[in-house]
Amino acid sequence: MILSEPQSTVLPIAATDSHFPVRRIYCVGRNYVEHIREMKEADERDPPFFFQKPTDSIVLDGGIVPYPPLTKNLHHEIELVVAMGSGGYNIGVAKALDHVFGYAIGLDMTRRDLQRAAKDRGLPWEVGKSFDHSAPCGAVHMVAEVGHVQEGAIALAVNGVTRQKGDLREMIWKVPEIISNLSSLFEIKAGDLIFTGTPSGVGPVLPGDRLEGTVDRLGSLRITIGPQEG
Ligand code: MN
Repeated sequence: MILSEPQSTVLPIAATDSHFPVRRIYCVGRNYVEHIREMKEADERDPPFFFQKPTDSIVLDGGIVPYPPLTKNLHHEIELVVAMGSGGYNIGVAKALDHVFGYAIGLDMTRRDLQRAAKDRGLPWEVGKSFDHSAPCGAVHMVAEVGHVQEGAIALAVNGVTRQKGDLREMIWKVPEIISNLSSLFEIKAGDLIFTGTPSGVGPVLPGDRLEGTVDRLGSLRITIGPQEG
């Protein structure tokens, strides 16, 4: 048997020929009040909580997300993604943005039926959240180009029809608070991505659907849902 080295995952850096090497993918759960209400759960002031996706679950802009196995309810969640340029443990809120390299548009694809079953049984979320191709992500826009993206429209359309629409100002936990809280649990390092939660309007997609996510100043992320795999 001959093993080859796994390919590293990189994202294009907008307006450059360079690439952003991805280390880990962290995701924040329940970070917009209207989404918490539509999911009918949780105290709206609960502290942020985190889960991870595999680094190789990223799908680049223009790519295909095969409809994953063992679900009948694949959902879209449009999210602002923070790309870390440095890190550490116990980063204070006031210093947190100094560690941000840039921002991107991401989709936290979710096997909602499997996630719900796991929640109901008190089991981990991996099968619902961390499957292959579950983390489409667009180009990283450098802070030097776009500033810190903390307000503005975030939206998702399926086949040209808007499904999700919100404003980044509606985030319960703001980006500096998320970084600070996450860094109390894990040592953040350059290359880490943080998906920051989704506004309301999540819903199912089917093979052949075309998804377009947009965030002010970050352009768009387009993916297509492919035939079922597995
Ligand atoms: Mn999410």
